Amino acid sequence: MTNYDYDLFVIGGGSGGVRAARIAAGYGARVGLCEESRLGGTCVIRGCVPKKLLVFASQFGEAFEDAAGYGWSVGDTAFSWPDLVAAKEREITRLEQVYGRLLGNAGVELHRGRGTLLDRNTVQVGDRRISAEKILIAVGGRPYRLDIPGAELGIVSDDAFDLPEFPERVLVVGGGYIAVEFAGIFRGLGAEVMLNYRRERILRGFDTDVRRVVEAGMLGRGVQFHYSNDPIRIVEGGLGRRQVTFSDGTDGEFDVVLFATGRHPYTGSLGLENADVTAGPKGLIVVDEYNRTSVDNIFAVGDVTDRVALTPVALMEGHAFADTQFGGMDRPVDHANVPSAVFSQPPSSSVGLTEEEARTQCEHVRVFRSEFTPMKYTLSDRSEKALMKILVDGQSDRVMGLHVVGPDAAEIVQGFAVAVRAGLTKADFDRTIGIHPTSAEELVTMREPVA
Ligand code: NDP
Repeated sequence: MTNYDYDLFVIGGGSGGVRAARIAAGYGARVGLCEESRLGGTCVIRGCVPKKLLVFASQFGEAFEDAAGYGWSVGDTAFSWPDLVAAKEREITRLEQVYGRLLGNAGVELHRGRGTLLDRNTVQVGDRRISAEKILIAVGGRPYRLDIPGAELGIVSDDAFDLPEFPERVLVVGGGYIAVEFAGIFRGLGAEVMLNYRRERILRGFDTDVRRVVEAGMLGRGVQFHYSNDPIRIVEGGLGRRQVTFSDGTDGEFDVVLFATGRHPYTGSLGLENADVTAGPKGLIVVDEYNRTSVDNIFAVGDVTDRVALTPVALMEGHAFADTQFGGMDRPVDHANVPSAVFSQPPSSSVGLTEEEARTQCEHVRVFRSEFTPMKYTLSDRSEKALMKILVDGQSDRVMGLHVVGPDAAEIVQGFAVAVRAGLTKADFDRTIGIHPTSAEELVTMREPVA
């Protein structure tokens, strides 16, 4: 027994923090956790979960349209944004309660309020000073909005889930995950959507073919792109609209301007300096492969470390931390071959290297690619293409990267990620029998490289 209040105190009740707290408590540690907002963090409250519910909602219009090709006549349809927001809120509240029960059942004590480090063993929460042998920082990130006049007239993704009214015309600023996902949501629910991105094509860092095919699908669904341009000023327009001026001299009026211009670690008033914890660019907390900060009893996991900002990665980091510090194991984090998906419309999902990365890492790369109209779209006359792409190391025959754009992309890649992670070869893929008729069978039937 120590003289500290806890063996572990966790600052932040999101995915990474809650996982670490539960697992550590399961090993017998005395654990406390503080959360200033709702339990569940970004993913559950204002990220992945409500986003996916909105994506589902936004796909019904397309389903009603496509139904005609299959002999259905769909009567009048109507969409109610307030009903969707209320239904989403009920589900989020349910999940928030599940998180609370998980912590309670594990014996973790919950403190409501923002945690601030006072020194390397003390955290202030409200008017309480709490001491702990080890401290884990898992406070996540916050959306960043551009520093331009009138930026406060725009919203960020946190706000997009609870807009009082559904907008007719939306400007989405940015070209990453959140930008393309929300462009698809608003468009699918019936808004006119313009996506403004400072460079020439969305999803920088993704495979070139993925970017091209997602962009084509979004264009086909009516999203307008305003590339190589920045908003430079926002002022109030008529009827509560926002008048936006761009760097090319053009302007436009929108009901909503959504800044999807990245997320920064939420370390502003955390008191890192009181404990001598080293911070890096944008305030990120610098950690080693065991999630240890520059102070040997203070650790950090998840988005606040700005490594791979994905929920399942934060879960892995939190779990590895607890296993190592309280379970007697040696578990460094492992960020290799992390699969991910962009729930754009069409959706895309990838694991492993892009073609560009593969070419810099392997001397000889074989590229297998198939672009086709998914069977489901044939009778409905939808012209959108799906993409399946595999990158193979020409020397070892190992599959280095795998990319899918099209219906169920994420569901498909989750399975194939096991194969890529296991280091399987193209010959292993070729030996696998396809499931017919599916889109995914392309991934085991492509025989001729295109490059
Ligand atoms: P991203 O980093 O994906 O995208 C940020 C976008 O904003 C980029 O297009 C970037 O441009 C642009 N941008 C940044 N700064 C400026 C600036 N000063 N002026 C103009 N444009 C700018 O961040 P997101 O906010 O979309 O998402 C944050 C993270 O959350 C993601 O990286 C991802 O890890 C995670 N996430 C994951 C999801 C999923 O798994 N499906 C869904 C949503 C989020 P440029 O490309 O030029 O840098």
